[in-house]
Amino acid sequence: MASADESTYGLVIGGTEGPAAGGDGPVLDPATNQPVARVARASADDARHALEVADRAFRESGWAGDDGTKRAKALRKLAARLDADLERFARLETRNMGKPLRESRIDIGFVVQTLEYVAGLADKVEGTTVPVPGNRLDYTLREPLGVTVHIAPWNYPLLLAMRSVAPALAAGNAVVLKPASLTPLTAVALGRLAADAGIPAGILNVVPGPGGEVGRALVDDPRCASVSFTGSVEAGRQVAEIAARRIIPTTLELGGKSPALVFPDADIDRAVRGVLWGIFGNAGQMCWAASRLLVHESVRADFLGKLQRSAEALKLGAGVDDGVEMGPVVSADQAEKVLGYVAAARADGGTVVTGGRRAEEPRLRAGNFVLPTIVDGVPVDSRAVREEIFGPVLAVAGFSETDEAVRLANATRYGLLAAVYTRDLATAHTVARRLEAGMVTVNEAPITFPQTPFGGCKESGLGFEQGIRVVEAYTRQKNVLVNLGAAKKRA
Ligand code: NAP
Repeated sequence: MASADESTYGLVIGGTEGPAAGGDGPVLDPATNQPVARVARASADDARHALEVADRAFRESGWAGDDGTKRAKALRKLAARLDADLERFARLETRNMGKPLRESRIDIGFVVQTLEYVAGLADKVEGTTVPVPGNRLDYTLREPLGVTVHIAPWNYPLLLAMRSVAPALAAGNAVVLKPASLTPLTAVALGRLAADAGIPAGILNVVPGPGGEVGRALVDDPRCASVSFTGSVEAGRQVAEIAARRIIPTTLELGGKSPALVFPDADIDRAVRGVLWGIFGNAGQMCWAASRLLVHESVRADFLGKLQRSAEALKLGAGVDDGVEMGPVVSADQAEKVLGYVAAARADGGTVVTGGRRAEEPRLRAGNFVLPTIVDGVPVDSRAVREEIFGPVLAVAGFSETDEAVRLANATRYGLLAAVYTRDLATAHTVARRLEAGMVTVNEAPITFPQTPFGGCKESGLGFEQGIRVVEAYTRQKNVLVNLGAAKKRA
């Protein structure tokens, strides 16, 4: 269903798109800071209305019934619809979020793959039979939870929303999705496709609105059966506190301060490419950005020289323009925040090797462009090393021994990803085991697939998204024990 005016985006509740009690407001193009569209701003009342509609749809629409093949069919159809419209969605994502079109195409493609992957799991949610003493039959059932709430961030707007929404739908739940206030457009656009794909009205609801009000209202409501939150540690903690009080299942995908470890035997050119995209992809606005480079002293100068040249060669510009390799950061506030961290790194004794300021070319001045930045020798206790910057800023340190590299890598409250660059198999596997991270990549920039589990340890989160068990995570287990009566003796 399309709204009458394509530049206005409403709340999608119960299969129709409409205004919010909280009014609406503009969302901006980060490359120009000009409005892209007006979007409804849900209030707490709108959030409760969405839950009520979702709850009714869960109980009455038949979506939650036993036949997973129907859900599989609808999810495949949604994937096909999105795939057919991939270019429009990618452009919308880029206009709203700023990332290069090439990256948005990959993101929307990932959503298509996720929908297809979980569609394949929708009719395979199985229980078990359990051998028990006596003449009894014991078995388990996997049942959907009810209404699941999903709160998404702005850095991969549709991808991270659908990463949890898709398996929740596959399991038979009704969903209420709250996208980030800065980047709600593709989530609303996807909500419009649901009916055509055969998803019953009220099963997929989208309510853009301020997190502090709408997010809280959604989680703190008896009809919310589980919450999947992706965002900052601070907001995640608040969500988790409410969820703990309510005793509901919670998945938290939070921040990171991931290390990239470059060993002396690494293929240096390959490692430079990996480190480059690990921090400057999506202008560094990645939860798993490898924002701390730990490089062996014997290759440090050579590596840094190559990395600097590659960083300075990156083409900055509006994501919709041809050949652009790095876009703006998402907002003027985010640009200020990033530059504040660079100032802190300098004040703490770091040397800015390249970048460290806004782009000054006239064509970039109106947008939120921060140059790719490398800061060498930042002390480990600097807040630029301890805290997540969420921008194109790499902090560099050297190491001499493997133990030292592992100690530095693990010296963080986060534990999302670690990237290891080495040609030595023993180093790769031994170090991978010793790193405190939910994910390790070897000789590759951060990369993930719908098939591979994604999640963090320490303050990076709780639980996993993606992978073969993901649909199960949106179900509850029920054990059924049947007394079959006195067993007849065999003749
Ligand atoms: P954020 O400020 O925490 O916001 C994330 C979402 O939570 C938004 O929809 C936001 O709504 C909402 N929200 C904010 N406060 C809330 C509250 N008190 N209760 C309920 N919901 C609330 O994070 P962000 O700035 O959008 O995203 C950046 C952060 O996300 C970074 O820390 C990044 O590392 C993390 N992240 C983690 C992963 C992962 O998979 N581990 C992936 C991507 C990003 P509003 O938009 O209205 O504020």
